[in-house]
Amino acid sequence: MPCNQGCKDQIIHPQAHNASDKPRRVYIRTYGCQMNEYDSLKLERLLQNGYERTDAPENADLVLINTCSVRDKPEQKLYSLLGEMKELKERRPEMLIGVGGCVAQQEGEKIIKRSRAVDFVFGTHNLSVVPSLINLRRSGAAPQVAVDYRDEWEELPAGFVESERVSVFISISRGCNKNCTYCIVPTTRGPEVSRPMEEIEREARIALHRGAKEIVLLGQTVNSYGRDLSPKITFVELLERLSRLEGLKRIRFTSPHPQEVREDFFELVSSNPKVCRHIHMPLQSGSDRILKLMNRNYRRAKYLSIIEALKERVPDIAITTDIIVGFPGETEREFQETLDIMEQVQFDNSYSFVFSPRPGTAAAEMKDDLPHSEKLKRLQILQAKQDEILQCKLTSWVGQEVEVLLEGPSAADPAKLQGRTSQNFTVNLVDQYPVKSGDLVQCRIRESARYTLKGELCGEPETGGAAQ
Ligand code: SF4
Repeated sequence: MPCNQGCKDQIIHPQAHNASDKPRRVYIRTYGCQMNEYDSLKLERLLQNGYERTDAPENADLVLINTCSVRDKPEQKLYSLLGEMKELKERRPEMLIGVGGCVAQQEGEKIIKRSRAVDFVFGTHNLSVVPSLINLRRSGAAPQVAVDYRDEWEELPAGFVESERVSVFISISRGCNKNCTYCIVPTTRGPEVSRPMEEIEREARIALHRGAKEIVLLGQTVNSYGRDLSPKITFVELLERLSRLEGLKRIRFTSPHPQEVREDFFELVSSNPKVCRHIHMPLQSGSDRILKLMNRNYRRAKYLSIIEALKERVPDIAITTDIIVGFPGETEREFQETLDIMEQVQFDNSYSFVFSPRPGTAAAEMKDDLPHSEKLKRLQILQAKQDEILQCKLTSWVGQEVEVLLEGPSAADPAKLQGRTSQNFTVNLVDQYPVKSGDLVQCRIRESARYTLKGELCGEPETGGAAQ
């Protein structure tokens, strides 16, 4: 549906100040995946000339809610949050509320009809019109809806990039052509569209110029990148090209799809020193019958062969995954097959959830008579197994020397620094050292904690422009 006031697809900076000439403040609440976090950062950037960010919604002149429809009960969560925001708005009538993300894309105008507190709704392809929607609303126009699908990538302000971070997200594609039966992403984000390589490279260069040392490439299925471009380019070619950028220390990406893994992927991971020794490869289920019902176009043998090849070529590689428990019709034996794969692969970590039907997906229509309590029980068993494996993995690093990219103050003790290993484990430095964020340092792991490692510095740091 087009914006109902016909606002143009262009970037208009919202008025920088309110009547009392104080800077306006924006509160952004983000749900969901890294793609949504990235979109929220884009919003922050788009509004930077008019707004400063606040963490307190009660002080905000503008509230943006970036929704996710992947997890449980997304609409309920949105309307309950809108209920809270409505009370704040009653106290501060000048406050504007905008709803974006996947739920906004799906629900569109329904959100405005259901909640009178909402001033505008913007879809997953409509971030760049948010400043225009704000201006229209502030100048007295009716509540706005902008959820048009667009093929092309949106125009963003020149130099858009996350600033002053050691590790930055860069989106390389959006949408998905896979149609897994439980997933709403192909509906909310549309078919897969690759971003032109030059654009990605430009964003990476700016990030590196501002002090980034690591880039994390984002896409629903990163390894199908480039097939829709002309001329075609492969994901591996993109990585090779980016890895040559001056100042770049590391590249990560999430998530590759097992069906799209080719020989050149193994070559790259094993031979390019800038590509991190960590692959997040969604499994979803260890049962072939469930994988088929999910429309995941690989089977357990194929998945296992990929992991085997990765481990053979890169023995210290870390593998993480996503798992859905209690998919409609999942039997006890099929759940055991998932546990068997966990045992076999020894995942370094996994993100697991109980199946939750998304209206509009094929899986939501499937017969599902397994009690929720049984699904929860299975989830607990699976997560307990994962915790056990993780503890062994963390312990196995004790005594080893690892390379750590320092990212900022430690969450446990802000006077000290923390960073991550190539395998994506967090390492907290045990002391204060003459090093800074952005340095690549050698650490000896002294001990492991529940989810992290503790290390002492050894050797000289590789410096080169601190991010902070
Ligand atoms: S690959 Fe499947 S789960 Fe992932 S975004 Fe595409 S449809 Fe959804």
